[in-house]
Amino acid sequence: MPAPRFARFAIALPLYRVFEYALPDEQPVVPGTRYRLPFTSGTRTGILLESSNASDYEPAKIKPVKERIDQQPVLDAHMLALARWMSDYYLQPIGEVVFQCLPGYLRGARESVSTRVKCWRLVSADAETIENLRSRSPRQFEICQALLTRPAGLNAQELRQINPNWSPVVKALEQKQILSWEWMARRDDPPQDACLPDLSAEQQGVLGEIEPRLQGFAVHLLDGITGSGKTEIYLRMIQSRLDAGLQVIYLVPEIGLTNQLIERVEQRYGNCFAISHSGLTELQRYRAWERFRRAEVSIMLGTRSSLFSRSDALGLIIIDEEHDSSYRQEDGIRYHARDVAIKRAQMLDIPIVLGSATPSLESLRNRTRDCWHSYRLEQRPTGFAPPRLELIDVRNSRLDCGCSAATFARVEKHLAASGQVLMYLNRRGFAPIVMCHECGWQAQCEHCDARLTLHQSLHSLLCHHCGFSQGVPEACPQCGHGEVKHYGIGTEQLEQGLKQRYPKTPILRIDRDVIASREALKSRLQQLQGGEPCILIGTQMIAKGHDYPAITLSVVLDADQALFSASYRASERLAQTLFQVSGRSGRGDREGEAVVQTRFPDHPLMQALLRKDYRSIAADLLQERQSYGFPPFARVVMFRADALELEVALDILEQIKARLQGVQQFDSIACIGPMPALMTRRIGRFRAQLCLMSQDFKVLRSVLRRAMPAIEELPGSARCSWSIDVDAHDL
Ligand SMILES: [Zn+2]
Ligand SMILES: [Zn+2]
Repeated sequence: MPAPRFARFAIALPLYRVFEYALPDEQPVVPGTRYRLPFTSGTRTGILLESSNASDYEPAKIKPVKERIDQQPVLDAHMLALARWMSDYYLQPIGEVVFQCLPGYLRGARESVSTRVKCWRLVSADAETIENLRSRSPRQFEICQALLTRPAGLNAQELRQINPNWSPVVKALEQKQILSWEWMARRDDPPQDACLPDLSAEQQGVLGEIEPRLQGFAVHLLDGITGSGKTEIYLRMIQSRLDAGLQVIYLVPEIGLTNQLIERVEQRYGNCFAISHSGLTELQRYRAWERFRRAEVSIMLGTRSSLFSRSDALGLIIIDEEHDSSYRQEDGIRYHARDVAIKRAQMLDIPIVLGSATPSLESLRNRTRDCWHSYRLEQRPTGFAPPRLELIDVRNSRLDCGCSAATFARVEKHLAASGQVLMYLNRRGFAPIVMCHECGWQAQCEHCDARLTLHQSLHSLLCHHCGFSQGVPEACPQCGHGEVKHYGIGTEQLEQGLKQRYPKTPILRIDRDVIASREALKSRLQQLQGGEPCILIGTQMIAKGHDYPAITLSVVLDADQALFSASYRASERLAQTLFQVSGRSGRGDREGEAVVQTRFPDHPLMQALLRKDYRSIAADLLQERQSYGFPPFARVVMFRADALELEVALDILEQIKARLQGVQQFDSIACIGPMPALMTRRIGRFRAQLCLMSQDFKVLRSVLRRAMPAIEELPGSARCSWSIDVDAHDL
């Protein structure tokens, strides 16, 4: 067969089209391979999507590719099909989506890197030669002796364990032609003697139900209260997949705090897993991807984008804390990793497990659908129930660093009983408001519609949206009054206040400002694990799935803001946060307590949190959403635009709306806007939005499909860019 002459390429550009080039007369031509392509004035990397012998263009005008980068394709047919589905479903430019499926390291023209290691083996291994070394060169003898029992060879790391100064010894043996080395794939076997914890009857029951269903595609929703042992169920399922020679992708929302999880996986599976998260370098993440692709490791443990790990033998996907919002990518290509993972499992006909103590309303609604199974875990193996929430009414209380006297009393009770205390305050920095009492001036970001937060340790005012910072003014910049005051409490101030109040108790703060240093984080986590009484302060990161058995009290300091949020998801998020935070307490062999400070104890949601479990609150919220016609009973597609002037952003959305209006059935979907976004100015740009909502997703899609060709022609530019957000979370 003659080699194809033309091919269409994906290029990482925000354009809804592919690019055609002529191919040299060479084989092979495989989709998923990267090429260097001439592009306007320079060179771009493109990924070959499909090839053919004919072109719609005049052949003479089609530029030839510059050169092929990869010997082997970097994306396989399945990943390309997944990318096409994402591009179609999320209405995102195909080029950008295809590149999203690759590790960052490979998105340019960098060549793939070997993950193999040097391995030394005996070449002439007669016992006599080796025996002769015993007296003349004991160090050489020692290494040969070790190699006799390891025909597969030893790598540098293993040789170092035999002799820290192994290199010259091995060189000498190479010269004598007793040893030689070759590149080998590193493949580690799981430890044989991993001892498994006993399963509770409930865990056993759930596993017994799931196991026989792990053939073929199905979504298994594991809905288990905090501390009920979901992780152990994941690990057992992983084992059964590994025994079948298959690989597993295990997604978690955040890895910084999951050292314990890593240790647990390591104990069970030795080095048979790779880790990938945003704290690693591009090269490290790529190596993890490559090792998983080559099946040198069987498990990929990572955050959102690890979903795109390539595998020829994927047998299971696990999404832990499936309700967590970090699975949604909110910039660049917008997608929800949970939903893409379900699609990927379906395409591969493999099972997927979603686990949470506070499942999303989407999943709770979907669990009655075909191919969905749900399982409940309602007990902690320790026998203690998760604490019930109690409210501390702070309406008439004087607060000291954000805490009422009743709260302090509770904290002291637990510290005295050698318990650890967790204090949740989702606001970093020292104080969120800096203002002048005389004229009402407030410290505002120059680039965003946002207040600046005082960070006392940095002696500066910071914008949490764009990173803008400025010094703390000594006098009011507006009226010159000599004193500028701050209001409200952030984690930094809470830490300072607690340190003064409890000078002998370790106060550990975990938020984005302090965990920039991984060492600092590690030492804090070790202290927690040590089990000595201490107070842990943190933002939402500490509400995520970690397990410190000595925590006996969880305190939520400020939940009230969420009661009056404009977002229709605020109640769901608040319920999830409060149940997650309270669920950190009492996981060990002592009963836990959980308290929430509030000025609105009579608010219906606060009352519900007091009396009901997450499941029945979620049922109420679902009913509420249904009566308002909000997701998951409707689908939302948001067009967003941002520009240097608000009018320009609104104008491009008007143009988009006009194109939508030209399409049949447009009248049957709700269209809100264009209007300025809630936070109109962010990082110096004005933002506007146009929201489409319909309870009939088919109609919504068909309107969009028909309008897209005209919308795609609207130019994006640095002055004004626009994007689409399918299944947008906030209106
Ligand atoms: Zn002033
Ligand atoms: Zn800002």
